[in-house]
Amino acid sequence: MPGYVKPVFFIFLVIIAAGVIGGFMAADRGRRVALWCLLCALLPPFLLLLYFAKPVREVEGVFRKCSNCGELIKWRALACKYCKTEQTGIKTLL
Ligand SMILES: [Zn+2]
Repeated sequence: MPGYVKPVFFIFLVIIAAGVIGGFMAADRGRRVALWCLLCALLPPFLLLLYFAKPVREVEGVFRKCSNCGELIKWRALACKYCKTEQTGIKTLL
């Protein structure tokens, strides 16, 4: 039937999209990709939880540890947002 797509197809697409987005977000935060991929696919509200989740470890190009207090800050941050220490030796991916 042209012009008609089964609703099941959309539900399937949403599940796949939520899983993929969740996987990428988990990777950015140094969390387990497979676990979050599955969680977000089954329960998309987990995407929100993951969005606000703090990173658990240093991730190349995304998060790094503050040289003073050890908190995880954005890779390109000029100063730590926790202790305000200026960050030196900013590493870039280029
Ligand atoms: Zn700091």
